[in-house]
Amino acid sequence: MRFSRLRLNGFKSFVDPTDLVIAQGLTGVVGPNGCGKSNLLEALRWVMGENRPTAMRGDGMEDVIFAGAATRPARNFAEVSVQIDNTDRLAPAGFNDADQIDIVRRITRDAGSAYKLNGKDVRARDVQMLFADASTGAHSPALVRQGQISELINAKPKNRRRILEEAAGISGLYQRRHEAELKLRGAETNLARVEDVLEQLS
Ligand code: ATP
Repeated sequence: MRFSRLRLNGFKSFVDPTDLVIAQGLTGVVGPNGCGKSNLLEALRWVMGENRPTAMRGDGMEDVIFAGAATRPARNFAEVSVQIDNTDRLAPAGFNDADQIDIVRRITRDAGSAYKLNGKDVRARDVQMLFADASTGAHSPALVRQGQISELINAKPKNRRRILEEAAGISGLYQRRHEAELKLRGAETNLARVEDVLEQLS
């Protein structure tokens, strides 16, 4: 499972549709300060389901939409798509019958984000779980922000454990456990209500 293409349209400084083919092996992105190198990494994190505006260096998620320049008006939406080559069949169960996986995230002003997985509308959670089960995703330690190395060195043991758990591919299980606990709590509340009603009737 390997990223093979990244497309940006209206995302931050990438106002015009931009297509990056990611070849096998090591890819380097070079350019002068402020040309958009970090924006590329943020686009990758964003399409994998990042939902913290601060991780996108913004105050709100709509800050990822091209904000306009002296000669260009602001855009109304931003879209990032990523193509995953799955010819090695390493994608998590449920996604493993296709050679290619396409994920698109689009944000429209005042309408929030929408995701598509292989052309079908899905929830943010579906995309996040796909990457969590593949031991990667928006919070993957493989994506290193500026200043992150010193953060890791100074991290508390609990936070360091989270990084190891992510690498071990069990962070998806934590998310599922959390959801199961919420359901359980809901069921317990319903049960208590039923008992109240039964008591009133008896
Ligand atoms: P450095 O080498 O200094 O780290 P960089 O190549 O990583 O720089 P980025 O930080 O990715 O550059 O890009 C910063 C540029 O993106 C700035 O020029 C900023 O104005 C522009 N930018 C960020 N958000 C938006 C937005 N919403 N609309 C338009 N331009 C934006």
